[in-house]
Amino acid sequence: MSGRAGQPALHLAGVVLPEGEHRDLWIRDGRLTFEPVPGAETVSRGGWLVPGLVDAHCHVGIGRGGVPVEDLAGLRAQALTERAAGVLALRDCGSPVDTRALDDEPDLPTIVRAGRHIARARRYIPGLATEIEPDALVEQVRAQARRGDGWVKLVGDWIDRGVGDLAPEWPADVLADAMAAAHEEGARVTAHTFGTDALPDLIGAGIDCIEHGTGLTEELIGQMAGRGTAVVPTLVNVENFPDFAAAGEKKFPNYASTIRRLHASSGAVVRAAFEAGVPVFAGTDAGGGIDHGRIADEVRALHSAGIPAEAALAAASWSARSWLGLPCMEEGAPADVVVYDADPRADLDTLARPRHIVLRGRVV
Ligand SMILES: [Zn+2]
Repeated sequence: MSGRAGQPALHLAGVVLPEGEHRDLWIRDGRLTFEPVPGAETVSRGGWLVPGLVDAHCHVGIGRGGVPVEDLAGLRAQALTERAAGVLALRDCGSPVDTRALDDEPDLPTIVRAGRHIARARRYIPGLATEIEPDALVEQVRAQARRGDGWVKLVGDWIDRGVGDLAPEWPADVLADAMAAAHEEGARVTAHTFGTDALPDLIGAGIDCIEHGTGLTEELIGQMAGRGTAVVPTLVNVENFPDFAAAGEKKFPNYASTIRRLHASSGAVVRAAFEAGVPVFAGTDAGGGIDHGRIADEVRALHSAGIPAEAALAAASWSARSWLGLPCMEEGAPADVVVYDADPRADLDTLARPRHIVLRGRVV
């Protein structure tokens, strides 16, 4: 969706990131231009201008406790909470609800969808995924690729009640066919994984991204770096692992100890992935157990794990945008800009306090 003719022309001046140069920007018909627009109203002078933030893993349509949100007002409220945090594009990593109606609402962030989660029967949060057996995976991947905006989401591992611990959901040969089918449909594939055992087959089959990825090993990180496979660590969700462990302790003590071990190493895994050259992006996993609007917390968590501040910010802005095929601040691009009073690269806490949020050329 782009701007509309007839919107008042605007002018902003400040330090444009990632280049770091002071520039004047104009907005005409919702789009950016570096050519002065006569009569444009100056809305901001000074400050730092950042390409609209991205939450690379969230869920619009999943409410508190994993309950689907069916009403438009409820869906809008989730998207508006992200917008208030400066998030102007979301990668929706799986939703049980058809949220297409939101695409007609010009005041909401852009949503890049992954269709609905695909899981084995009784191997995910009840009611959220389309649940199938492996022989139906290829067909279901094609169906979700057509339902989404260029992504398909698999549940790669989950507790296996027979094993009493995390275990892979899909056999390797089926995964290879599923990746090929998705790529043929023009979609990329990502998978939820907490543990290690599902990862070799997913990465080997050519998956494009791993969500959470707490079970990554040095060897698997090396393979991902070689293939360009991304990871979205969702550290604000990993903070909840001790609670998951406590909840599962009685029935599944091995699972509880696995989850505690993964929690303990999660920061080191993120740092190792970043240092090896794996593309790392910021996603909160909002929807369900995590509130929307927490992207600043995720960026700070990535930095605390050892990613330099500027790279942590890039993971939630310009790098994530280019990974998703969205433009940054360039001539003719939709004007999605967040203005901060201070340099967020020098102090990531600044991200929690946007001065102005400009979505599709309108100050919101
Ligand atoms: Zn998620």
